[in-house]
Amino acid sequence: MIHRENNIDLATLSTLKIGGRGHEYVTVDGYGDLQQLHREGFFDNLWHIVGGGSDSVFSDDLEDVHFLRLVEMNTPEIISKEEDYTLVRIWGGANWDNIVAWSVQNNLAGIESLAAIPGTVGAAPIHNIGAYGSEFSDVCHEVRVFDTQTGEGAALSHEACQFEYRKSIFKQAAYAEHIVVYVTLKLFHATEKRTISIPAYKDVEKFFEEKKSTPTLREIYDAITEIRWGKLPRPELLPNCGSFFKNTIVPQDQADQWIGEHPDMPHFQLDDGNVKVPTGWLIESIGMKGYQVDGSLEKDGIAVYDKHALVIVNYGGATYDDLLSLVREIQTRVQSKFNVMIHPEVCMIDRDAVSND
Ligand SMILES: Cc1cc2nc3c(=O)[nH]c(=O)nc-3n(C[C@H](O)[C@H](O)[C@H](O)COP(=O)(O)OP(=O)(O)OC[C@H]3O[C@@H](n4cnc5c(N)ncnc54)[C@H](O)[C@@H]3O)c2cc1C
Repeated sequence: MIHRENNIDLATLSTLKIGGRGHEYVTVDGYGDLQQLHREGFFDNLWHIVGGGSDSVFSDDLEDVHFLRLVEMNTPEIISKEEDYTLVRIWGGANWDNIVAWSVQNNLAGIESLAAIPGTVGAAPIHNIGAYGSEFSDVCHEVRVFDTQTGEGAALSHEACQFEYRKSIFKQAAYAEHIVVYVTLKLFHATEKRTISIPAYKDVEKFFEEKKSTPTLREIYDAITEIRWGKLPRPELLPNCGSFFKNTIVPQDQADQWIGEHPDMPHFQLDDGNVKVPTGWLIESIGMKGYQVDGSLEKDGIAVYDKHALVIVNYGGATYDDLLSLVREIQTRVQSKFNVMIHPEVCMIDRDAVSND
């Protein structure tokens, strides 16, 4: 069923609670609703699809933009059960973490390390969500999209999605007019033959230090959830969008130079010969952890989180312009110290970003 609300406060659609007003907010609960919207000419307007808004902020000049969301329905459908794996189809509006919890409960492995990532299933392929060594692409079998220009549906195989680090085909201009309606995941049966491994990350390994037997999927899910919320502020308590910037990937010679200057710099060797450096470390090392644009010590407005330099938080009342000032200042200061440009991971939705321009 199609539901419409006018003059929506866009800050309510973002977990960083930043945004002006939008013309209309439309929610749909089935593929047929999208076809109906297409017949009505909804997609001839300026429009934008949102999920849980945990990776989105909105500018102040979107009053004529129509916002669309797939309602939350969390019932996965088993498509086929093979000897080693099960194919599961999930509606794009489903809550990602609910699906991870469901998979764990059903002894299906593959996404337990992606526990507690806020947001929807439909957004997961867009920037190929990842954490603790796992990515959405590891389990993606197929993505079903609705092309809002033609009104037709299409299925994209894993290969067709062209997944990379925080990137997929859905970020390309040709796919800007597509809505992810369903994803099909290939989840492995956690059996004695195919055991579960502890993600090779210090904090997770430490969590299981004293455990002698292989942890269950549920134990990994619980561990990741606990570790995650020990490090990141819960958006409902302190508005944020998780990691605000993408991690920085540089060639080996650049990394070697930085390591020479900062022997304690954390870094991860990538298969392609490049090196991944945590952008939070770059920001922290220039003294911007906890930084507020106006230098205020009162916790108000927009700030770099004082416990994790990769996270930007809104203590209340921050505007899109406040956020832009902070982001630009961080980028400029990182660039002048390290000679590298850092890029937001969060979708900064302004007029240029909305579809159908
Ligand atoms: C505390 C916290 C921790 C986080 N940790 C992680 C992490 O560990 N790893 C990680 O990768 N991310 C992380 N994130 C970011 C975020 O949770 C993910 O990017 C998530 O996939 C966003 O989902 P969403 O539904 O909220 O997307 P939104 O912010 O609503 O949308 C994000 C983008 O996807 C598009 N989109 C949304 N739904 C659809 C659809 N159905 N079809 C087509 N396009 C769509 C939107 O237009 C937008 O461009 C974290 C965020 C928070 C707040």
